[in-house]
Amino acid sequence: MTRSFQENPTSTVLYGTPAVPGVVAAPTVRPAPRVLMETVTTPLAESERASAAEAFRRAATTVADRLRARAAASSGAAAEVLAANAAMAADRGWLAAAEQRIATGTPAPTAAVAATEHFAELFLGLGGLMAERVTDLRDVCDRVVAELTGRPEPGIPVPDRPSILLAEDLAPADTAGLDPNLIVGLATSLGGPTSHTAIIARQLGIPCVVAVTGLDAVPAGAELLLDGTAGRVTVSPDPETTRAAVVEYRSATERAAAWTGPGATADGRRVEVLVNVQDGAGARVAQRTPAEGVGLFRTELCFLDRGSEPARAEQAAIYAEVLAAYPDAKVVLRTLDAGSDKPLRFADHPDEANPALGVRGIRLTARDSGLLDRQLDAIADAAAGRAAPTWVMAPMISTAAEAKSFAARVRARGLVPGVMIEVPAAALLAEAILEHVDFASVGTNDLAQYTMAADRMSPQLAALTDPWQPAVLTLVACTAAAGQALGKPVGVCGEAAADPLLACVLTGLGVTSLSAAAPAVAAVGATLAAVTFEDCRRAAEAVLGTADPAAARAAARTALGL
Ligand code: PEP
Ligand code: MG
Repeated sequence: MTRSFQENPTSTVLYGTPAVPGVVAAPTVRPAPRVLMETVTTPLAESERASAAEAFRRAATTVADRLRARAAASSGAAAEVLAANAAMAADRGWLAAAEQRIATGTPAPTAAVAATEHFAELFLGLGGLMAERVTDLRDVCDRVVAELTGRPEPGIPVPDRPSILLAEDLAPADTAGLDPNLIVGLATSLGGPTSHTAIIARQLGIPCVVAVTGLDAVPAGAELLLDGTAGRVTVSPDPETTRAAVVEYRSATERAAAWTGPGATADGRRVEVLVNVQDGAGARVAQRTPAEGVGLFRTELCFLDRGSEPARAEQAAIYAEVLAAYPDAKVVLRTLDAGSDKPLRFADHPDEANPALGVRGIRLTARDSGLLDRQLDAIADAAAGRAAPTWVMAPMISTAAEAKSFAARVRARGLVPGVMIEVPAAALLAEAILEHVDFASVGTNDLAQYTMAADRMSPQLAALTDPWQPAVLTLVACTAAAGQALGKPVGVCGEAAADPLLACVLTGLGVTSLSAAAPAVAAVGATLAAVTFEDCRRAAEAVLGTADPAAARAAARTALGL
């Protein structure tokens, strides 16, 4: 499994952040340019305004219907993102703002753009989650303008042969609609490993590298070798490099396909390999992987579109679907992680300047514990009579007191309590927190965000939120050590666990389970099975001695011989 990349003097190697593993070689394509700037400016005569408003409304409805249809044909994160964009195209405030402009003589495409930019300015001023919606809003506007002006729908071209898509960043609506048979790789100059683009690419199983420095200079049509595992993009690679990389990847894929679990290193050290799901449909897809159970069920994702709290029976039925997919295996449900990038309309979110540091996850309980209690009742109903363990963990725990209060509520219902460790304070005092609960699971996505003081959604800060940051891994080590001291399991369920190389390092740090998105499960299990625990321990030690993610990756590769 040694890696032998010979750099071609005529080829250029660019580096970014690995987002979805896999190696592909193909020519590149780029999305069509945005249509936003090319709008008509001649004012409308009075007599034309009513029909222009009608045409605008029709175009917006067509775009909303199209996005809704794509949402219905997708599942998981892709479906949610498409449904949210469909709702934007039908948003009454946005439609009215454009129609008001048309009524005073502004041509419909210009009115749509002006209304969009009005809201974009407003959202950018608000910052945070609202600012992140601007890409979506402008994308919806582009689609409506294209529809209005009789142009093809903007966005991703449909290539006539398998290609690698290059872009600055992608609108979620585009990423969600990608055909993995035609778009076989994805590289962006912006974006982070936890951005929407990366999450959807992972769901579709498309190898992806984000935040690639120098990518904008790569022309459409250039031949590319993309390594989503190493975070490397080689422009005009020599044929031998391509052949070696593809052959090596193929054999890794074959090993993954042959891996049937359960999770263990080559010398038999057990590490549970679990799967992350977000609903019953996702759990049924996950059943096809060798995952031994569910390590993270993100329950809040079931309710992002709800205006009111689902009744106990409805919640229980939704949770039961996931439990039914794994009747004899461990399932870890996470209570609602509402807030920040995942606000729920029925949760009592205060108006906050900085929601990522605000009342999210377990912190909502201090304002009103009813929501948590009703959810735990529903989980207990769903789990009643189950033979296998049902574990329940709280997101965003920062103190031992929060863990203690949560554990009491969970135990009172006959369930097994645990916590997510995603706040640096919780990692540093993991032993005091673990005293109260039966297990912990490290959420490396948020742990990286809070350790590095870098918004996980910010494309500019992707290098800081890289889970290979040695500071983040030091806190994982701290948590795993606390688990070992108390004899309690400590897993990882953030995106770090989906990276096969990092999975080995986490194992060496003392983590007892790894939970990853379904497409990543087999590669993680197969890679672990190819190394010894001692290799993992040496890799972990080497990584903790480095000062940045690139050095950490290189140190791990050397120690593991991968
Ligand atoms: C995490 O923060 O790593 C995690 C698993 O939770 P989420 O990504 O849902 O915030
Ligand atoms: Mg989290």
